[in-house]
Amino acid sequence: MDFTLNENQTMFRDMVRDFARQEIAPIAQQMDEENGMPADLVEKMKEGGFFGIAFPEQYGGLGADTITYGLVVEELAKVSAGVCVMLTVHNSVGSYPVAMFGSEEIKQEFLPRMAAGEIAAFCVTEPGAGSDAASITTTARRDGDEYILNGNKIFVTNGQRAAFFVVIARTPGTTGHKDTHAFIVPRGTPGLIVGKKEDKMGLRASDTAVIDFEDARVPAVQLLGNEGDGFKIAMAALDGGRIGIAFQSLGIGEACLEEAVKYANMREQFGKPLMRQPVIGGMIADMGTELEAARLLALQAAWLKDQGKPYSKQAAMAKLMCSEAAWRAADKAVQIHGGYGYCKEYPVERYYRDVRVTRIYEGTSEIQRLVIARHLGREF
Ligand SMILES: Cc1cc2nc3c(=O)[nH]c(=O)nc-3n(C[C@H](O)[C@H](O)[C@H](O)COP(=O)(O)OP(=O)(O)OC[C@H]3O[C@@H](n4cnc5c(N)ncnc54)[C@H](O)[C@@H]3O)c2cc1C
Repeated sequence: MDFTLNENQTMFRDMVRDFARQEIAPIAQQMDEENGMPADLVEKMKEGGFFGIAFPEQYGGLGADTITYGLVVEELAKVSAGVCVMLTVHNSVGSYPVAMFGSEEIKQEFLPRMAAGEIAAFCVTEPGAGSDAASITTTARRDGDEYILNGNKIFVTNGQRAAFFVVIARTPGTTGHKDTHAFIVPRGTPGLIVGKKEDKMGLRASDTAVIDFEDARVPAVQLLGNEGDGFKIAMAALDGGRIGIAFQSLGIGEACLEEAVKYANMREQFGKPLMRQPVIGGMIADMGTELEAARLLALQAAWLKDQGKPYSKQAAMAKLMCSEAAWRAADKAVQIHGGYGYCKEYPVERYYRDVRVTRIYEGTSEIQRLVIARHLGREF
């Protein structure tokens, strides 16, 4: 495997890095404090083609490969993990089910609009169904040419902004993963109710909302894949999504490393910069080494996906490793900043809050270990 970036990948990364530094970094702290994202930033990102990065060119996207997509995610996460997650959910779990499992008619109807910036969201989690996604109770009852959806979805990233929702629901009276179905449901569908926005610890630029369905009628043509494919589609979407979260974690971890080095070079105690105190230098060396190792796993998972090879195990490994390495990096960065690390004056305070969720969403670290163990259990 050669992970030397090609010209296209470098160009994308540099373009996004410039945009992130110029347009996002100056307002990142403000978005965190105000618990939201200005509409004009979303408009600029639409104009820049950000919403179509991972979409096929034939549907109006930029057709970037997974490595390029990962680099974009990483650059965004370095400045604002909240802006980053809006994009990753849209470009992966919010749209991938349509791109991979939608009929041609559905793809042509929805993908170009998504690629142009009509935001997508992914609704699996419910009050009683988190890690155990197969225990969802939202129902989809067939009625002629329609399905009628009833139930409650929670923690929906982009819930308040989204134009389209990928929804996983089940045949009434069933249990387990077999009788689950996936739908694309546009905002404005009568009975789709956008509920309260969560007041989160981190990722405060992004919105996370409750979505309720009360007799929401969805045309049967908006079924993705076949009846009974819902769980399979959700899991396939999450496999790809985890690569994005791995790169998001890396971006936050790398920002922590940069801030820690800058501070340790500047701050003097005992007559010399912290950087020259062996204990602090060792902490920084560990941060850099762990992030570099994690990065290789993320690149490997992305490369496998681009090669059309199986990547589910590597995506889980990358998500586990990157999120945990980034979490340790954030903890060390706060420690290296001493008391200032605990104050909002320095960005590591925000990174520390932002990184925490990477070990929780799109499958917790415990669930990644279950997935990895399941794969390994079949290999030997
Ligand atoms: C900011 C944010 C954004 C999110 N965005 C979305 C979204 O867009 N769409 C969506 O559908 N969901 C979303 N989620 C939901 C997220 O995916 C879930 O929170 C996550 O899957 C965990 O589910 P849970 O919160 O119900 O925890 P639970 O499943 O209740 O787990 C609680 C704890 O128990 C552990 N645990 C559970 N089962 C096991 C087991 N078998 N073995 C060992 N440990 C176990 C878990 O690891 C965790 O530590 C989001 C969540 C957050 C916080």
